[in-house]
Amino acid sequence: MGLFQDIRSDYKAIFERDPAAKSRIEVFLAYPGFHAIFLHRINHLLWKTGVPVLPRLLSHIGRFLTGIEIHPAASIGAGFVIDHGMGVVIGETTEVGENCLLYQGVTLGGTGKEKGKRHPTLGNNVVVGSGAKILGAIKVGNNVIIGANSVILKPVPDNSICVGVPGRITRKKIIRMTTDDGLVEMMDYFPDPIVEKLRELESRINDMDRRLDSADKIKERGGRMRIYNTLAGKKEEFIPENPAEVRMYACGITAYDHCHIGHARSAIVFDVMRRYIKYRGFPVKYIKNFTDIDDKIINRARQEGIAWDKVAEKYIDEYYRDMDSLGVGRADVEPKATEHIQEMIDIVKGLIDKGFAYEIDGSVYFEVLKFQDYGKLSKRDLEDMMAGARVEVDDRKRNPMDFALWKASKEGEPSWESPWGPGRPGWHIECSAMSLKHLGVTFDIHGGGADLIFPHHENEIAQSEAFTGRPFAKYWVHNGFITVDKEKMSKSLGNFFTIKEILNKFDAEAIRFFLLSTHYRSPIEFSDEQLKEAELSIDRYYTTALRTRDFLMQDNLKDKHSPDEKALEDITSKFSAGFREAMDDDFNTALAIGNIFELIRVLNKYLDGRPSGQKAAALVKLADDLLRESGGVLNIFARTPEEWYKALMTVKSIDVTEEGIAAKIEERRQAREAKDWASADLIRKDLEEKGIILEDRKDGTGWKVKIS
Ligand SMILES: [Zn+2]
Repeated sequence: MGLFQDIRSDYKAIFERDPAAKSRIEVFLAYPGFHAIFLHRINHLLWKTGVPVLPRLLSHIGRFLTGIEIHPAASIGAGFVIDHGMGVVIGETTEVGENCLLYQGVTLGGTGKEKGKRHPTLGNNVVVGSGAKILGAIKVGNNVIIGANSVILKPVPDNSICVGVPGRITRKKIIRMTTDDGLVEMMDYFPDPIVEKLRELESRINDMDRRLDSADKIKERGGRMRIYNTLAGKKEEFIPENPAEVRMYACGITAYDHCHIGHARSAIVFDVMRRYIKYRGFPVKYIKNFTDIDDKIINRARQEGIAWDKVAEKYIDEYYRDMDSLGVGRADVEPKATEHIQEMIDIVKGLIDKGFAYEIDGSVYFEVLKFQDYGKLSKRDLEDMMAGARVEVDDRKRNPMDFALWKASKEGEPSWESPWGPGRPGWHIECSAMSLKHLGVTFDIHGGGADLIFPHHENEIAQSEAFTGRPFAKYWVHNGFITVDKEKMSKSLGNFFTIKEILNKFDAEAIRFFLLSTHYRSPIEFSDEQLKEAELSIDRYYTTALRTRDFLMQDNLKDKHSPDEKALEDITSKFSAGFREAMDDDFNTALAIGNIFELIRVLNKYLDGRPSGQKAAALVKLADDLLRESGGVLNIFARTPEEWYKALMTVKSIDVTEEGIAAKIEERRQAREAKDWASADLIRKDLEEKGIILEDRKDGTGWKVKIS
């Protein structure tokens, strides 16, 4: 537009926006805002035609007359209004769109000392409140409203409302209304920052109320659990977000090979945690995932010459076979990564929108520098990580530590359609997507092996919290390693044992017991000797169970005290509290098992005293119940002694059948009846050599399997 048309638009705009403007002559003579823009338009023309000195001089005079300083070089669209204009400053490289309105004291100022663009650009229809400052070469979009006294230092997108110091965007919403003039678009209401703050405080108070409430409920259930939280670096009281449902997630296996004993440890540790939390009266929702797409799976498919999904299927089946025999309960949901591709894509999209992720050639990376808390779980800063970690060299990444959220597929690899082309998810994103879907934004316990702390769990936190803006998991729980000859057992070192190999030599219950007899955070040294110890312990329980059963089957009519009656009374009265105390203290299964075997010791001593009578029966029954109950929480001692010995016959490859043993026992009975002690003894010795021990009891002769 030409000079006069622009001035006409400015003049008209005053009548449109200032309800006080009535007379044309009044506006022309007595509106400093109008004088300022009028003078500026002439100055700007002179400036553009290269007239020296004069434009600056006129700008200076204009400021003196109107209190408004506009650099002659500033480019301003038509329909510009400065209301109550005093103190407005418009810098040299400022650009203003059409139909903008400025109030008193506004600065469209520059930053930096270099020549060039250092002042803001305002879009069309922008309204700037009194005292606002818009500083630097930033762009303010169309239809923006900037509140009084805001200080705007960052770009503002179209249709936004900004308030505060530094200015923050509070609303980005347009209301469309049909009026007599047709469809009219207008901004949503102007939010009151104080009301917003109060609302935030209110929601925090509600949240704290809820937590206090749940703490009370926990007290009602008697005592509190403490969990070592890797994130806090210490033991913390366990206060679930919602005591009506404790939500727990553990990272599962990548299904490309047989599980080794390290997988068994992790699975059993979290299985016991879940059982114990339930035992303490909290319903638990437990999720454990399967990674069923990964480089390792693709490589294994190539090696085995079968489809990648068949590899995953095969090793998931193998996993269940192993874990079922180890007494690991199934999680409530056991989701697979490939069943959640859309959920992962949604999160990746969200992370790009929020500026936490970027795309390169069909792959998407998370930009770690954008997430302020990166490193909070593993307690390291980015420099340490770069020094310590083996980082893939990829020049395209903005930072070497940036990690893949989505990977463009190479030729011949499995792929899914995405906004970035065909590809597949990175490893970390699946746990964020699956926990969000099945447990919600913030849940209670997130677990896994200690080797997952970095980078897997660190990355899970970064992407989840960046995406939701809320805390991810409250308690981060990590189990320790298994060592062989004091070295960490790992696939890469080749010093590992698969669960199947160990199950060939030892009973599953002995393996489970072995893994629980050390606190879950401590390393465990793996050896056959340790497993034999575990086998002996389990055998000791079943031998005691057999003895207890025999005792309870006798008629117990005559009262007879055992010298150890007081000791058994003492230990049984305190046992439950002691078991809970041990388990409450960060799931100390080692101590709990210590308590169990102390009870077994005292019970056996009590029975050695050959007690009898109703009181004795009640006491033994109580001890037996306590052992079963605590064993139930750990999921051990669940079989009958006969089942235990039968299982031992298999793992120890004992060369005689149950029927064979029964026949020998009968033969021996007849020999003894005939007082042929020599033959009877020979039968006993013969069986013992084969690993079977005979025991003469009240109801006949029983047998058990010799350990060691
Ligand atoms: Zn995970």
